[in-house]
Parts: sequence; C-alpha cells; structure tokens
Amino acid sequence: MVLKIYNTMTRKKEVFKTLKPKEVKIYTCGQTVYDELHVGNAKTYGIWDIIVRYLRFKDYDVFHVQNFTDVGHLTDDGDEGEDKIEKRARLKRIEPMELVDQQIREYWLDIDELNIARPNISPRATQHIIEMQELIKKLLSKGYAYEVSGNVYFNTSKFKDYGKLARLSLKDLKAGARVEIDPNKNHPRDFALWLKAPSKHIMKWSSPWSIGYPGWHLECSVMAMKYLGDTIDVHGGGIDHIPVHHTNEIAQSEAVTGKTYSKYWLHNAFITINGEKMSKSKGNFITARDAINKWGAMVVRLALASGHYRSQIDYNNGLLTTAKNNLERVRNTIEHINNASPGRNNELLKIVKAARKAFIEAMDDDFNTPKALAVIYAFIKKVNKSINKASNKSLNASKDLIIKLMGVLGVDLTRKEEAVELTDDLIKLLIRMRDEARKRKDYKISDRIRLSLKKLGVIIEDSPKGSRYKIINP
Ligand code: AMP
Ligand code: ZN
Repeated sequence: MVLKIYNTMTRKKEVFKTLKPKEVKIYTCGQTVYDELHVGNAKTYGIWDIIVRYLRFKDYDVFHVQNFTDVGHLTDDGDEGEDKIEKRARLKRIEPMELVDQQIREYWLDIDELNIARPNISPRATQHIIEMQELIKKLLSKGYAYEVSGNVYFNTSKFKDYGKLARLSLKDLKAGARVEIDPNKNHPRDFALWLKAPSKHIMKWSSPWSIGYPGWHLECSVMAMKYLGDTIDVHGGGIDHIPVHHTNEIAQSEAVTGKTYSKYWLHNAFITINGEKMSKSKGNFITARDAINKWGAMVVRLALASGHYRSQIDYNNGLLTTAKNNLERVRNTIEHINNASPGRNNELLKIVKAARKAFIEAMDDDFNTPKALAVIYAFIKKVNKSINKASNKSLNASKDLIIKLMGVLGVDLTRKEEAVELTDDLIKLLIRMRDEARKRKDYKISDRIRLSLKKLGVIIEDSPKGSRYKIINP
C-alpha cells in the first residue's frame, strides 16, 4: 500500500517519496505566542500530530520541528501593523518575554492534555536572530535583497518563480499593489527581512543595517534549514499561510540555496464558527481550554479529526455531540471486551486484519481521517456482534487494534478521566500550594494547579491582597 499526499505545490495527490529511505523531516508553522490556544489552532496542530503518528505507525523515522513565533509577527501578515506580542505585552504591562513564557507554559498544558505529541524541537525565533541575520547577509550578497534606511527587503522581482505555491498571477500581484503603502519598497510585493525599530519599540537587536527586528517569514526558513537541512520532506501550515508566509519562505530559502525548499506542502483548512473563520482578530474564537472543560480533551480531539484536514469544519454543538457519542460507543466496546466471557470462535481475527488494512487504505489516501474513523466504527459494530462467542485471543486482538488505531488519530483510550470531589478545605490547600510554588517561581506547578482547578470549575483570581477563588460549575 502506498501513501499518497496532496501537495499544494502541484495541486495533486502524489506518491509519498522521502529524500532518504524511511526518514521524514517535517517542519510545521507554530503558534505566535501572545494569546491562548483556540480550537482552530488545535485543529491545525492536531492534524500535524496525526500525520506524524501515522508516519511513525508506518515505520518512518520522523523528525518534527515546530517553531514558536516570539517576535516579528505583525498584526498584519504582511509588513504592516504592530508586533502582536509587543502590543499584547504593552496592554498587560509586562515584559514581552514574560508574556511569551506565560503563553508557552499554557500552550503546553493544553497541547499535552489534547494528547498532541510534542515535536522533536520547538525552537523560538528570538533564539535565532544571528542565523536570521546571516541569511539576510547571504541574500544581500546574492543580490536578492536590498537595504533602504535601515530596513532590508527581499527583491521579489529577482526571484523567477515568486508566487509559485499560491499560483499568484501578475494580476493578483498588481491588485495587492494598490493597497500597499510602504514607500521604501522597490516593488509593493517585496517583503521585509529586517525592519528598523522605532525608538519606543521594546524587542530589538543590533544588526549591520539598524537596531531592529526580523521580518516574520524569515524565522521559519532559518529554523527549518538549520534543524532539517536545505531541502525538507514536508512543510505544513494553515491555508492562510499559502499566499504570503509560505510564498515568502520559499522565495528567501530557495534564493539562498538554489535548491527545492520542501518536497511536499500540506495545508490545513480552517475551523469556522457560524461559517466564519475562527480567529483571534475577529474575537469569535473558543479557547481550547474552554472546549476541553466543556467536552473533555478526547472528545475535542475526536471532533477535530472527524473532518478531513483539507475540508473546512464548523465548530458547533452537533459536531461535539457526535464526537462524544462516538467516543462513548468506542469506550463501551472496550468495556464489553473487558467484561466478556470468551468463547472459542476465532472469526474476529480475520475481521481485525481486514479492519487494519482498511484503516491503512483510508489514511494512505491523503490522511483521510473521517474514512479511517468510519472503518473503526464499522469494526466495533462487528466486534459487538461477536463478543459472546469470540475467543480470548481474538478479543484481545480487537481491543489492541481499537486502542492502536484511535491512538494514531490522537485519541488516547487508555487515559483515565479523573473524577475529583472538591471540598473547600481541599481547594484552600491547593491554592496555598500554588501560592508557595509561585513564590519559588515554580510556574510549571503553579500553572498546573491553577489549570487543574479551572478544569474542575474553580477559578483562581489573583489580587494584590492574595488569591481568591470562585466556583463556576457548582
Ligand atoms: P495564529 O493563531 O494566527 O498564530 O495561527 C497559528 C496556527 O493556527 C496557524 O498555522 C494557523 O493557520 C492556524 N489557525 C488559525 N486559525 C485557524 C482556524 N480557524 N482553523 C484552523 N487553523 C487555524
Ligand atoms: Zn512559518
């Protein structure tokens, strides 16, 4: 069975051929860490996790890098607006790096709970300022970049294939030109590699061109090539990244190396809410934490996998209720197996084999998760029917298969959802332990206590006089 992947670059499903046999180098664009994770972000990171898990299931040696953007992402994906992190830090009256650290801690709590496996490396943009400057120097020396008043821009006219991923036509590029306002650019579609910081700007570094900060697109090229090589197997991101971010990553990387930057480009479609893209800027988002609290992490995970990654899905009660019911059906089957008194019939073993094959066929078809889930649901129906006569061996094989395949889709059936009964005394004790952890600056523990309590409906409010709590789900 061969794996086929839809490559945005060619707009075709292609047979997956890695650069080195059985090795996959994958880079996916990560979170700009200034706000909470929402379910749209979780869908995107969830699908990269499924893809990595599936490739490992198929015995590929996968190395996954996903960055944290902690500088340089302006409120506009082009070169306009303020730095998102600096803006939010100013509002909160904290250091931008304090905000980043806080958000990264919260991020991991959500990601871990959603059973999204952590990448091999999660590098941060600010750890790679030197490498970014090196790349800019190379682009300047090759004539692909130019400097104007302390800013450095990529010269898109010099890069022959500019816009090939998005299939931008000259007409699109001219249309974009009308809204462009930066007078320093030779051509409106040119993009910033380095920007001179206004005097009040907080996050800035010295460079040969100015005291300033890097353009957002640069970090992904630098980190992908540093950790994975000049040419990588797979590059993933949300579909919003096709026309600007990934287009610019390709231009600056390929201009420097003269090689193909990524063999396969994968793009995940949006989660919508009432038909509109869920986004931080629109304010129509549901945080992953709220969704987890309401439905449970594994229900959310299953709901996110229930649509194909290239199809838009709408976040609504129906989607989550269906996932909840399906998860219950799967869990019930496992429980029935655990309680069954085995017979002698081995018929199920054949069905186990067929189900495994059908699952692989579905996932080999561009990671068709809804089809793969349909295979699992059909399989559990058959198991339910045979449970009373099936042999011990076939029941165990069935159970193992269900747990394994759901696990590939990110749903961990072995995880126990704990039921905790909270008393006032217990809450107070936990709050005191959290205060002590905060005093020692052990934010990992303090955050875990705060978020665990939040999950149970207890919200801690910090004030100069100390911590108080309120119960939202009595
Ligand atoms: P951002 O929140 O803009 O930093 O996006 C982080 C990642 O989540 C990017 O890869 C986006 O493409 C993705 N993303 C943002 N909004 C959505 C959404 N509504 N549905 C799916 N993915 C999203
Ligand atoms: Zn990126």
